[in-house]
Amino acid sequence: MGYNFACDNLFNRNFIMVLASIITIGDELLTGQTIDTNSAWMAEELNKIGVWVKRRVAVGDVWDDIWNALDEESKIADIILITGGLGPTADDITKPLLCKYFGGNLIVNEQVLRHVKYLFEKVFRRPGPILERNLKQAEVPDVCTVLMNERGTAPGMWFEKEKKVFVSLPGVPHEMKGLMKKEVLTRLQRRFKMPFILHQTLLTYGMGESFLAEKIKDWEEQLPGHIKLAYLPHYGNVRLRLTGISDDKNKLEKELEEQSKKLKPLIRDWLVIDDDMTIQQVVAKILKERKQSVGTAESCTGGYIAHLLTIDPGASSNFKGTVVAYDNKVKEDILNVSAQTINSAGAVSEETVKEMLKGALEKLKSDYAVATSGIMGPDGGTEDKPVGTVWIAVGNNRKIEAQRFNFRFDRVRNIEQTAHTALNMLRKFIENHDSSA
Ligand code: AMP
Ligand code: MG
Repeated sequence: MGYNFACDNLFNRNFIMVLASIITIGDELLTGQTIDTNSAWMAEELNKIGVWVKRRVAVGDVWDDIWNALDEESKIADIILITGGLGPTADDITKPLLCKYFGGNLIVNEQVLRHVKYLFEKVFRRPGPILERNLKQAEVPDVCTVLMNERGTAPGMWFEKEKKVFVSLPGVPHEMKGLMKKEVLTRLQRRFKMPFILHQTLLTYGMGESFLAEKIKDWEEQLPGHIKLAYLPHYGNVRLRLTGISDDKNKLEKELEEQSKKLKPLIRDWLVIDDDMTIQQVVAKILKERKQSVGTAESCTGGYIAHLLTIDPGASSNFKGTVVAYDNKVKEDILNVSAQTINSAGAVSEETVKEMLKGALEKLKSDYAVATSGIMGPDGGTEDKPVGTVWIAVGNNRKIEAQRFNFRFDRVRNIEQTAHTALNMLRKFIENHDSSA
């Protein structure tokens, strides 16, 4: 068991790490029809218990490919987690393959059989007899430990071979998650002695990753070998994430704290928060602390800012509502933007977003408002206002700030970029201009 991390280039420290590899199975993952969200979620959960994910691979429902992946991944990892290919249809071949791979025979597991019958008779309430193919879900290799799947018919299967652990889980994300939480993670913790993997995240805005990297170069160079820095850029924000590995949790927590304390003054001008939060969570936190509220008047973002502000629970305490004023008539009739402004300056203009914002403050009775109007593409651009031209306004009853942005070609990206930029503008506005807190 274990892996000497000294020879690994991730963390240059002599350290016994428990390494995992995740194999996701399914043709749909290779054609792009299904996005592999399973392995991202699993990697995060594994990190939390101190397991380092060394590799993630996706293979189709192809016998040789799955077999080879098992061979390859068991060369580099202590734990091989597998999802997919456990359905009742002919395309799903993972179970018979694992049975052969580990040299077993398929036998009916009575507990799983009772569970499958219970699901079909009492939960799904399917009329008629249960299909043979569904009953077959209760067959498992006699060389595995069965992990009961409360959420579905396909059980999880735990195998051990040459000190390596292999766990096969269903592909359906919520079934896989149920099994991981209820069965797999605790068993892994009992089976392996893990170090601690801890993260500390700082959210910055307004400086690209290359410039940031220049600013903090000396600090980054002095980081000890067991602490690593990642730059995670996302729509104008850059998340700086420190990851440390150690046997001593308290010591590592202190070290990460010290490193982040040294880092903060270097990035003071761009630091939003020293926590792993989204920009909408930061805005919500600030508003909550001040017992204030925001409303949005959205043309080009079509309610996307409102959507972001309502993803997290507790939004009702600081979010009033939105007016999606896509059509000019709606801008005029509901937000009281004057027809003359739209005619003379255009719908995508400083004047229009400012009037939209005033209308939102009045209609939604919020302390702050955000307004957006832009040309998201692919059509509608002119020489003066090409696709990607966006005006954003933020403000309150005392002051309004508006800014023009020139984003690029992709419609969805433009919408997302506008929303994130608007939320950042709002955050700065509240922090700079409002002393009511
Ligand atoms: P399966 O266990 O292969 O029958 O998978 C059942 C369903 O789970 C598939 O149709 C996909 O929609 C979904 N699924 C499978 N693998 C993944 C994955 N890696 N990430 C997200 N969803 C998945
Ligand atoms: Mg499948």
